[in-house]
Amino acid sequence: MAKRTLTGTSLDTLVSLAKRRGFIFQSSEIYGGLSSVWDYGPVGVELKRNVKDAWWKSMVRERDDVVGIDASILMHPDVWVASGHLAGFSDPLVECNDCHRRFREDQVEGDVCPNCGGGFGPARQFNLLLKTFLGPVEEDAATVYLRPETAQAMFVNFENVQTTSRKKIPFGIAQIGKSFRNEITPGNFTFRTREFEQMEMEFFCEPGTDDDWHDYWMNFSLNWFKKYGLRGEKLLLRVHEADELPHYSKASADVEYEFPWGWGELETISNRTDFDLKAHSEKSGKDLSYFDDQKKERYVPFVVEPAMGADRSALAFLADAYDEEGEGKEMRVVLRFHPDIAPFQVAVLPLSKKETLSPTAQRVHELLRPYFNTQYDDTQSIGRRYRRQDEIGTPLCVTVDFDTLDDDAVTIRNRDTMEQVRVSIENLESAIRDLLTQMRTDAKG
Ligand code: ATP
Repeated sequence: MAKRTLTGTSLDTLVSLAKRRGFIFQSSEIYGGLSSVWDYGPVGVELKRNVKDAWWKSMVRERDDVVGIDASILMHPDVWVASGHLAGFSDPLVECNDCHRRFREDQVEGDVCPNCGGGFGPARQFNLLLKTFLGPVEEDAATVYLRPETAQAMFVNFENVQTTSRKKIPFGIAQIGKSFRNEITPGNFTFRTREFEQMEMEFFCEPGTDDDWHDYWMNFSLNWFKKYGLRGEKLLLRVHEADELPHYSKASADVEYEFPWGWGELETISNRTDFDLKAHSEKSGKDLSYFDDQKKERYVPFVVEPAMGADRSALAFLADAYDEEGEGKEMRVVLRFHPDIAPFQVAVLPLSKKETLSPTAQRVHELLRPYFNTQYDDTQSIGRRYRRQDEIGTPLCVTVDFDTLDDDAVTIRNRDTMEQVRVSIENLESAIRDLLTQMRTDAKG
Protein backbone atom coordinates (compact mmCIF):
# COMPACT_ATOMS: atom_id res chain seq x y z
CA MET A 1 0.00 0.00 0.00
CA ALA A 2 1.10 3.59 -0.51
CA LYS A 3 2.99 4.37 2.70
CA ARG A 4 1.30 6.89 4.99
CA THR A 5 3.09 8.99 7.62
CA LEU A 6 -0.15 9.50 9.58
CA THR A 7 -2.42 6.80 10.92
CA GLY A 8 -5.45 9.08 10.68
CA THR A 9 -6.74 12.61 10.96
CA SER A 10 -9.63 14.61 12.42
CA LEU A 11 -12.96 15.07 10.69
CA ASP A 12 -12.52 18.87 10.88
CA THR A 13 -9.32 18.62 8.85
CA LEU A 14 -11.12 16.63 6.17
CA VAL A 15 -14.14 18.96 6.08
CA SER A 16 -11.93 22.02 5.67
CA LEU A 17 -9.75 20.40 2.99
CA ALA A 18 -12.90 19.24 1.20
CA LYS A 19 -14.21 22.81 1.07
CA ARG A 20 -10.86 24.47 0.27
CA ARG A 21 -10.07 22.19 -2.64
CA GLY A 22 -13.54 21.77 -4.15
CA PHE A 23 -14.45 18.27 -2.98
CA ILE A 24 -17.61 18.96 -0.97
CA PHE A 25 -19.60 22.09 -0.11
CA GLN A 26 -22.57 22.58 2.14
CA SER A 27 -25.81 22.61 0.15
CA SER A 28 -27.39 26.05 -0.41
CA GLU A 29 -24.55 27.67 1.52
CA ILE A 30 -25.41 31.24 0.49
CA TYR A 31 -28.79 30.78 2.22
CA GLY A 32 -27.15 29.59 5.41
CA GLY A 33 -27.01 25.96 4.27
CA LEU A 34 -29.37 23.05 4.67
CA SER A 35 -28.37 20.89 7.58
CA SER A 36 -26.64 17.60 6.69
CA VAL A 37 -27.08 18.08 2.95
CA TRP A 38 -23.92 18.32 0.83
CA ASP A 39 -22.90 19.13 -2.73
CA TYR A 40 -19.90 17.64 -4.52
CA GLY A 41 -17.66 20.24 -6.17
CA PRO A 42 -15.52 19.88 -9.32
CA VAL A 43 -12.95 17.68 -7.56
CA GLY A 44 -15.37 15.72 -5.36
CA VAL A 45 -17.63 14.82 -8.26
CA GLU A 46 -14.68 13.13 -9.97
CA LEU A 47 -13.80 11.25 -6.78
CA LYS A 48 -17.33 9.97 -6.27
CA ARG A 49 -17.72 9.11 -9.95
CA ASN A 50 -14.49 7.09 -9.81
CA VAL A 51 -15.76 5.20 -6.76
CA LYS A 52 -18.98 4.37 -8.60
CA ASP A 53 -17.16 3.47 -11.83
CA ALA A 54 -14.72 1.20 -9.99
CA TRP A 55 -17.65 -0.58 -8.34
CA TRP A 56 -19.61 -0.89 -11.61
CA LYS A 57 -16.55 -2.24 -13.37
CA SER A 58 -15.85 -4.89 -10.69
CA MET A 59 -19.50 -5.75 -10.21
CA VAL A 60 -20.98 -5.65 -13.72
CA ARG A 61 -18.51 -5.17 -16.57
CA GLU A 62 -15.90 -7.66 -15.40
CA ARG A 63 -18.43 -10.40 -14.59
CA ASP A 64 -20.62 -12.68 -16.67
CA ASP A 65 -23.12 -13.29 -13.88
CA VAL A 66 -24.22 -9.74 -13.00
CA VAL A 67 -26.18 -7.26 -15.15
CA GLY A 68 -27.15 -3.68 -14.37
CA ILE A 69 -30.29 -1.57 -14.32
CA ASP A 70 -31.10 2.08 -13.69
CA ALA A 71 -34.58 2.32 -12.19
CA SER A 72 -36.70 5.28 -11.14
CA ILE A 73 -36.57 6.73 -7.66
CA LEU A 74 -40.38 6.81 -7.56
CA MET A 75 -42.10 3.43 -7.48
CA HIS A 76 -45.65 2.19 -7.05
CA PRO A 77 -46.62 2.70 -3.38
CA ASP A 78 -47.52 -0.99 -3.05
CA VAL A 79 -43.82 -1.82 -3.45
CA TRP A 80 -43.26 -0.35 0.02
CA VAL A 81 -46.25 -2.18 1.45
CA ALA A 82 -44.91 -5.52 0.19
CA SER A 83 -41.31 -4.82 1.23
CA GLY A 84 -42.39 -3.98 4.77
CA HIS A 85 -41.02 -0.42 4.64
CA LEU A 86 -44.38 1.31 5.15
CA ALA A 87 -45.16 -0.65 8.28
CA GLY A 88 -41.71 -1.23 9.68
CA PHE A 89 -38.97 1.00 8.28
CA SER A 90 -38.48 2.94 11.45
CA ASP A 91 -35.93 3.73 14.11
CA PRO A 92 -36.66 4.17 17.83
CA LEU A 93 -36.81 7.91 18.57
CA VAL A 94 -36.40 9.52 21.98
CA GLU A 95 -37.07 13.19 22.76
CA CYS A 96 -35.43 15.19 25.54
CA ASN A 97 -38.00 16.49 28.04
CA ASP A 98 -36.01 19.76 28.49
CA CYS A 99 -34.46 20.88 25.17
CA HIS A 100 -36.79 18.77 22.99
CA ARG A 101 -33.95 17.57 20.80
CA ARG A 102 -34.58 14.19 19.23
CA PHE A 103 -32.16 11.28 19.01
CA ARG A 104 -32.06 7.73 17.73
CA GLU A 105 -32.37 5.70 20.91
CA ASP A 106 -29.70 3.19 19.86
CA GLN A 107 -27.22 6.01 19.20
CA VAL A 108 -27.26 7.67 22.63
CA GLU A 109 -25.27 6.25 25.48
CA GLY A 110 -27.10 6.03 28.81
CA ASP A 111 -30.44 7.76 29.35
CA VAL A 112 -29.53 11.46 29.49
CA CYS A 113 -29.65 13.97 26.67
CA PRO A 114 -26.15 14.56 25.18
CA ASN A 115 -27.16 18.18 24.48
CA CYS A 116 -28.41 19.37 27.89
CA GLY A 117 -28.31 16.42 30.28
CA GLY A 118 -32.13 16.28 30.53
CA GLY A 119 -34.15 13.08 30.70
CA PHE A 120 -35.90 11.40 27.78
CA GLY A 121 -39.58 10.65 27.28
CA PRO A 122 -40.62 7.14 26.18
CA ALA A 123 -39.17 5.86 22.87
CA ARG A 124 -41.49 5.71 19.87
CA GLN A 125 -41.05 4.36 16.37
CA PHE A 126 -40.31 6.98 13.70
CA ASN A 127 -40.83 6.00 10.05
CA LEU A 128 -37.89 7.01 7.86
CA LEU A 129 -39.71 7.10 4.50
CA LEU A 130 -39.82 10.50 2.78
CA LYS A 131 -43.11 11.27 1.09
CA THR A 132 -44.11 13.36 -1.84
CA PHE A 133 -47.18 13.73 -4.07
CA LEU A 134 -47.60 12.88 -7.73
CA GLY A 135 -49.87 15.08 -9.82
CA PRO A 136 -51.44 18.43 -9.03
CA VAL A 137 -53.46 17.39 -5.97
CA GLU A 138 -51.96 16.92 -2.53
CA GLU A 139 -54.06 14.10 -1.23
CA ASP A 140 -53.49 10.63 0.18
CA ALA A 141 -54.33 8.94 -3.11
CA ALA A 142 -51.41 10.75 -4.78
CA THR A 143 -48.83 9.91 -2.08
CA VAL A 144 -45.63 8.29 -3.30
CA TYR A 145 -42.34 7.69 -1.53
CA LEU A 146 -38.75 8.50 -2.35
CA ARG A 147 -37.09 5.08 -2.34
CA PRO A 148 -35.17 4.35 0.88
CA GLU A 149 -33.06 1.71 -0.92
CA THR A 150 -32.43 0.82 -4.54
CA ALA A 151 -32.89 -2.92 -3.97
CA GLN A 152 -36.65 -3.14 -4.50
CA ALA A 153 -36.33 -2.19 -8.18
CA MET A 154 -34.21 -5.32 -8.70
CA PHE A 155 -36.90 -7.51 -7.14
CA VAL A 156 -39.84 -6.04 -9.04
CA ASN A 157 -37.85 -6.19 -12.30
CA PHE A 158 -36.55 -9.71 -11.63
CA GLU A 159 -38.59 -11.36 -14.37
CA ASN A 160 -38.06 -8.58 -16.95
CA VAL A 161 -34.32 -8.71 -16.45
CA GLN A 162 -34.05 -12.50 -16.28
CA THR A 163 -36.00 -13.10 -19.48
CA THR A 164 -34.39 -10.30 -21.52
CA SER A 165 -30.82 -10.98 -20.40
CA ARG A 166 -31.37 -14.78 -20.60
CA LYS A 167 -29.29 -15.17 -17.43
CA LYS A 168 -29.61 -18.41 -15.54
CA ILE A 169 -29.48 -18.66 -11.78
CA PRO A 170 -27.14 -17.90 -10.07
CA PHE A 171 -26.98 -14.31 -11.38
CA GLY A 172 -27.24 -10.81 -10.00
CA ILE A 173 -28.77 -7.42 -10.81
CA ALA A 174 -26.85 -4.29 -9.81
CA GLN A 175 -27.83 -0.65 -9.58
CA ILE A 176 -26.31 2.64 -8.49
CA GLY A 177 -28.67 5.42 -7.52
CA LYS A 178 -30.07 7.87 -5.02
CA SER A 179 -31.93 6.80 -1.92
CA PHE A 180 -33.64 8.89 0.73
CA ARG A 181 -34.21 8.35 4.44
CA ASN A 182 -35.59 10.83 6.93
CA GLU A 183 -32.77 10.01 9.38
CA ILE A 184 -33.40 11.17 12.95
CA THR A 185 -29.78 12.14 13.57
CA PRO A 186 -27.85 12.69 10.36
CA GLY A 187 -24.25 13.79 10.77
CA ASN A 188 -20.53 13.12 10.58
CA PHE A 189 -20.27 15.02 7.30
CA THR A 190 -21.43 12.82 4.40
CA PHE A 191 -21.52 9.64 6.50
CA ARG A 192 -25.20 9.90 7.38
CA THR A 193 -27.40 12.14 5.27
CA ARG A 194 -31.04 12.15 4.24
CA GLU A 195 -30.25 11.99 0.54
CA PHE A 196 -27.46 9.66 -0.51
CA GLU A 197 -26.33 7.31 -3.21
CA GLN A 198 -26.23 3.54 -2.94
CA MET A 199 -24.50 0.81 -4.92
CA GLU A 200 -26.45 -2.39 -4.46
CA MET A 201 -26.48 -5.81 -6.06
CA GLU A 202 -29.10 -8.53 -5.59
CA PHE A 203 -27.65 -11.97 -6.30
CA PHE A 204 -30.34 -14.57 -7.03
CA CYS A 205 -29.34 -18.14 -6.18
CA GLU A 206 -30.77 -21.56 -5.55
CA PRO A 207 -32.02 -22.12 -1.98
CA GLY A 208 -29.40 -24.14 -0.13
CA THR A 209 -26.50 -22.41 -1.92
CA ASP A 210 -27.21 -19.08 -0.20
CA ASP A 211 -24.81 -19.54 2.75
CA ASP A 212 -21.89 -20.17 0.40
CA TRP A 213 -22.79 -17.16 -1.72
CA HIS A 214 -23.05 -15.05 1.43
CA ASP A 215 -19.46 -16.03 2.32
CA TYR A 216 -18.36 -15.32 -1.24
CA TRP A 217 -19.85 -11.81 -1.32
CA MET A 218 -18.51 -10.92 2.14
CA ASN A 219 -14.99 -11.73 0.95
CA PHE A 220 -15.52 -9.99 -2.35
CA SER A 221 -16.64 -6.80 -0.59
CA LEU A 222 -13.80 -6.66 1.87
CA ASN A 223 -11.26 -7.31 -0.90
CA TRP A 224 -12.82 -4.66 -3.12
CA PHE A 225 -12.07 -1.91 -0.59
CA LYS A 226 -8.52 -3.19 -0.14
CA LYS A 227 -7.94 -3.42 -3.88
CA TYR A 228 -8.76 0.27 -4.19
CA GLY A 229 -6.39 1.23 -1.41
CA LEU A 230 -8.17 1.28 1.96
CA ARG A 231 -5.70 0.06 4.56
CA GLY A 232 -6.47 -3.47 5.77
CA GLU A 233 -5.95 -2.53 9.42
CA LYS A 234 -8.71 0.09 9.15
CA LEU A 235 -11.24 -2.41 7.80
CA LEU A 236 -13.15 -5.18 9.53
CA LEU A 237 -16.06 -7.49 8.87
CA ARG A 238 -18.61 -7.52 11.69
CA VAL A 239 -21.21 -10.27 11.73
CA HIS A 240 -24.61 -9.11 13.03
CA GLU A 241 -26.04 -10.54 16.23
CA ALA A 242 -29.42 -12.26 15.82
CA ASP A 243 -31.27 -9.35 17.48
CA GLU A 244 -29.79 -6.82 15.00
CA LEU A 245 -31.03 -8.56 11.88
CA PRO A 246 -33.64 -6.74 9.80
CA HIS A 247 -36.95 -8.55 9.24
CA TYR A 248 -35.91 -9.84 5.79
CA SER A 249 -32.48 -11.15 6.72
CA LYS A 250 -31.26 -14.58 7.74
CA ALA A 251 -27.67 -13.40 8.21
CA SER A 252 -25.88 -10.06 7.72
CA ALA A 253 -22.38 -8.70 8.10
CA ASP A 254 -21.03 -5.17 7.83
CA VAL A 255 -17.78 -4.03 6.30
CA GLU A 256 -16.70 -1.33 8.74
CA TYR A 257 -14.03 1.33 8.38
CA GLU A 258 -12.28 3.19 11.18
CA PHE A 259 -13.40 6.77 10.50
CA PRO A 260 -11.92 9.73 12.45
CA TRP A 261 -14.75 9.35 15.02
CA GLY A 262 -14.60 5.54 15.25
CA TRP A 263 -15.78 2.45 13.40
CA GLY A 264 -18.66 2.93 10.97
CA GLU A 265 -20.49 0.83 8.41
CA LEU A 266 -19.56 1.08 4.73
CA GLU A 267 -21.50 -1.86 3.41
CA THR A 268 -23.86 -4.59 4.58
CA ILE A 269 -23.90 -8.01 2.99
CA SER A 270 -27.22 -9.69 3.77
CA ASN A 271 -28.82 -13.02 3.07
CA ARG A 272 -32.33 -11.73 2.24
CA THR A 273 -33.66 -15.28 1.64
CA ASP A 274 -36.74 -15.48 -0.59
CA PHE A 275 -38.49 -12.80 1.50
CA ASP A 276 -38.70 -10.06 -1.14
CA LEU A 277 -39.62 -12.13 -4.19
CA LYS A 278 -42.30 -13.95 -2.20
CA ALA A 279 -43.67 -10.71 -0.75
CA HIS A 280 -43.91 -9.11 -4.22
CA SER A 281 -45.46 -12.25 -5.72
CA GLU A 282 -48.10 -12.19 -3.05
CA LYS A 283 -48.87 -8.47 -3.23
CA SER A 284 -48.77 -8.10 -7.04
CA GLY A 285 -50.29 -11.47 -7.90
CA LYS A 286 -47.42 -12.08 -10.33
CA ASP A 287 -45.54 -15.35 -9.92
CA LEU A 288 -41.84 -14.52 -9.45
CA SER A 289 -40.61 -18.09 -9.15
CA TYR A 290 -37.91 -19.44 -11.48
CA PHE A 291 -37.86 -22.63 -13.53
CA ASP A 292 -34.48 -24.31 -13.39
CA ASP A 293 -34.43 -26.14 -16.73
CA GLN A 294 -31.45 -28.30 -15.87
CA LYS A 295 -32.95 -29.57 -12.65
CA LYS A 296 -36.49 -29.42 -14.08
CA GLU A 297 -37.54 -27.74 -10.87
CA ARG A 298 -39.37 -24.54 -9.98
CA TYR A 299 -38.37 -22.50 -6.94
CA VAL A 300 -38.32 -18.98 -5.53
CA PRO A 301 -34.64 -17.90 -5.59
CA PHE A 302 -32.84 -16.80 -2.46
CA VAL A 303 -31.05 -13.44 -2.59
CA VAL A 304 -27.68 -12.36 -1.24
CA GLU A 305 -27.21 -8.59 -1.25
CA PRO A 306 -24.04 -6.51 -0.97
CA ALA A 307 -25.36 -2.98 -0.24
CA MET A 308 -22.85 -0.15 -0.21
CA GLY A 309 -23.03 3.63 0.14
CA ALA A 310 -21.25 5.67 -2.53
CA ASP A 311 -20.95 8.75 -0.30
CA ARG A 312 -19.71 6.81 2.72
CA SER A 313 -17.20 4.97 0.57
CA ALA A 314 -15.97 8.21 -1.00
CA LEU A 315 -15.57 9.66 2.51
CA ALA A 316 -13.61 6.58 3.62
CA PHE A 317 -11.33 6.87 0.58
CA LEU A 318 -10.77 10.55 1.38
CA ALA A 319 -10.07 9.90 5.07
CA ASP A 320 -7.78 6.98 4.31
CA ALA A 321 -5.79 8.83 1.66
CA TYR A 322 -5.07 11.86 3.88
CA ASP A 323 -1.44 12.23 4.85
CA GLU A 324 0.96 14.90 6.03
CA GLU A 325 4.72 14.95 5.55
CA GLY A 326 7.34 17.22 7.10
CA GLU A 327 6.73 20.04 9.53
CA GLY A 328 6.05 23.78 9.73
CA LYS A 329 6.42 25.61 6.44
CA GLU A 330 7.78 22.46 4.80
CA MET A 331 4.66 20.49 5.69
CA ARG A 332 3.08 18.80 2.72
CA VAL A 333 -0.53 17.58 2.71
CA VAL A 334 -0.94 14.72 0.29
CA LEU A 335 -3.87 12.46 -0.55
CA ARG A 336 -2.49 9.04 -1.42
CA PHE A 337 -5.44 7.82 -3.47
CA HIS A 338 -5.31 4.69 -5.63
CA PRO A 339 -4.85 6.03 -9.20
CA ASP A 340 -8.33 4.84 -10.25
CA ILE A 341 -9.96 6.61 -7.28
CA ALA A 342 -7.93 9.86 -7.49
CA PRO A 343 -10.09 12.66 -8.95
CA PHE A 344 -7.47 13.36 -11.63
CA GLN A 345 -4.69 11.04 -12.73
CA VAL A 346 -2.39 13.54 -14.42
CA ALA A 347 -1.86 17.29 -14.15
CA VAL A 348 -0.11 19.13 -16.97
CA LEU A 349 1.80 22.12 -15.63
CA PRO A 350 3.79 24.52 -17.79
CA LEU A 351 6.69 25.78 -15.68
CA SER A 352 5.58 29.35 -16.26
CA LYS A 353 2.72 31.14 -17.92
CA LYS A 354 5.08 32.51 -20.59
CA GLU A 355 3.62 32.37 -24.05
CA THR A 356 6.53 30.38 -25.42
CA LEU A 357 5.56 27.39 -23.25
CA SER A 358 1.78 27.42 -23.70
CA PRO A 359 1.47 25.80 -27.16
CA THR A 360 3.72 22.87 -26.20
CA ALA A 361 2.01 22.44 -22.84
CA GLN A 362 -1.40 22.50 -24.55
CA ARG A 363 -0.19 19.97 -27.08
CA VAL A 364 0.94 17.64 -24.27
CA HIS A 365 -2.42 18.09 -22.57
CA GLU A 366 -4.35 17.25 -25.74
CA LEU A 367 -2.15 14.20 -26.21
CA LEU A 368 -2.97 12.83 -22.77
CA ARG A 369 -6.61 13.75 -22.17
CA PRO A 370 -8.17 11.02 -24.34
CA TYR A 371 -6.47 8.40 -22.13
CA PHE A 372 -6.35 9.87 -18.62
CA ASN A 373 -8.46 12.19 -16.50
CA THR A 374 -6.29 15.29 -16.66
CA GLN A 375 -6.09 18.83 -15.37
CA TYR A 376 -4.27 21.75 -16.91
CA ASP A 377 -3.01 24.42 -14.53
CA ASP A 378 -0.82 27.40 -15.37
CA THR A 379 -1.65 29.74 -12.49
CA GLN A 380 0.67 30.58 -9.55
CA SER A 381 4.18 29.32 -8.89
CA ILE A 382 5.06 25.72 -9.77
CA GLY A 383 5.62 24.92 -6.07
CA ARG A 384 2.10 25.99 -5.20
CA ARG A 385 0.69 24.05 -8.10
CA TYR A 386 2.46 20.86 -6.99
CA ARG A 387 1.07 21.46 -3.51
CA ARG A 388 -2.44 21.86 -4.89
CA GLN A 389 -2.18 18.64 -6.92
CA ASP A 390 -0.84 16.81 -3.84
CA GLU A 391 -3.83 18.06 -1.84
CA ILE A 392 -6.29 16.66 -4.36
CA GLY A 393 -4.25 13.47 -4.71
CA THR A 394 -3.18 13.65 -8.37
CA PRO A 395 -0.71 10.76 -8.80
CA LEU A 396 1.41 12.33 -11.54
CA CYS A 397 2.34 15.88 -12.60
CA VAL A 398 3.82 16.50 -16.04
CA THR A 399 5.91 19.65 -16.18
CA VAL A 400 6.68 21.40 -19.43
CA ASP A 401 9.78 23.62 -19.06
CA PHE A 402 12.02 25.69 -21.30
CA ASP A 403 14.23 22.68 -22.11
CA THR A 404 11.16 20.99 -23.54
CA LEU A 405 11.30 23.43 -26.43
CA ASP A 406 14.71 22.00 -27.35
CA ASP A 407 14.58 18.34 -26.36
CA ASP A 408 10.84 17.61 -26.72
CA ALA A 409 10.93 15.96 -23.31
CA VAL A 410 8.99 16.65 -20.09
CA THR A 411 9.36 15.85 -16.39
CA ILE A 412 7.00 13.48 -14.60
CA ARG A 413 6.74 14.01 -10.84
CA ASN A 414 5.48 11.16 -8.65
CA ARG A 415 3.03 12.29 -5.91
CA ASP A 416 4.21 9.74 -3.34
CA THR A 417 7.97 9.68 -3.80
CA MET A 418 8.31 13.19 -5.32
CA GLU A 419 10.80 11.61 -7.69
CA GLN A 420 11.08 13.25 -11.07
CA VAL A 421 11.90 11.49 -14.33
CA ARG A 422 12.57 13.04 -17.71
CA VAL A 423 10.65 11.41 -20.57
CA SER A 424 10.34 12.27 -24.25
CA ILE A 425 6.89 13.44 -25.28
CA GLU A 426 6.81 10.59 -27.75
CA ASN A 427 7.03 8.04 -24.91
CA LEU A 428 4.97 10.01 -22.40
CA GLU A 429 1.70 8.09 -22.65
CA SER A 430 3.32 4.70 -22.12
CA ALA A 431 5.58 6.05 -19.33
CA ILE A 432 2.49 7.34 -17.53
CA ARG A 433 0.73 4.00 -17.99
CA ASP A 434 3.69 2.17 -16.45
CA LEU A 435 3.91 4.53 -13.49
CA LEU A 436 0.15 4.28 -12.81
CA THR A 437 0.32 0.48 -12.98
CA GLN A 438 3.08 0.53 -10.36
CA MET A 439 1.07 2.93 -8.16
CA ARG A 440 -1.98 0.65 -8.43
CA THR A 441 0.08 -2.24 -7.08
CA ASP A 442 1.57 -0.08 -4.33
CA ALA A 443 -1.89 1.19 -3.30
CA LYS A 444 -3.24 -2.25 -2.39
CA GLY A 445 -4.37 -2.17 1.24
P1 ATP B 1 -27.01 2.53 9.41
O1 ATP B 1 -27.03 1.34 10.34
O2 ATP B 1 -25.70 3.27 9.40
O3 ATP B 1 -28.21 3.42 9.54
P2 ATP B 1 -28.12 0.77 7.47
O4 ATP B 1 -27.63 -0.55 8.03
O5 ATP B 1 -29.51 1.16 7.72
O6 ATP B 1 -27.12 1.93 7.92
P3 ATP B 1 -28.30 -0.25 4.82
O7 ATP B 1 -29.77 -0.24 4.77
O8 ATP B 1 -27.62 -1.56 5.03
O9 ATP B 1 -27.80 0.80 5.92
O10 ATP B 1 -27.76 0.49 3.51
C1 ATP B 1 -26.63 0.05 2.80
C2 ATP B 1 -25.57 1.14 2.76
O11 ATP B 1 -26.11 2.37 2.32
C3 ATP B 1 -24.93 1.44 4.10
O12 ATP B 1 -23.91 0.52 4.40
C4 ATP B 1 -24.37 2.83 3.87
O13 ATP B 1 -23.12 2.77 3.21
C5 ATP B 1 -25.41 3.45 2.94
N1 ATP B 1 -26.31 4.29 3.73
C6 ATP B 1 -27.41 3.90 4.43
N2 ATP B 1 -27.99 4.95 5.03
C7 ATP B 1 -27.24 6.04 4.71
C8 ATP B 1 -27.34 7.42 5.04
N3 ATP B 1 -28.32 7.91 5.78
N4 ATP B 1 -26.40 8.27 4.54
C9 ATP B 1 -25.39 7.80 3.75
N5 ATP B 1 -25.26 6.50 3.42
C10 ATP B 1 -26.16 5.63 3.89
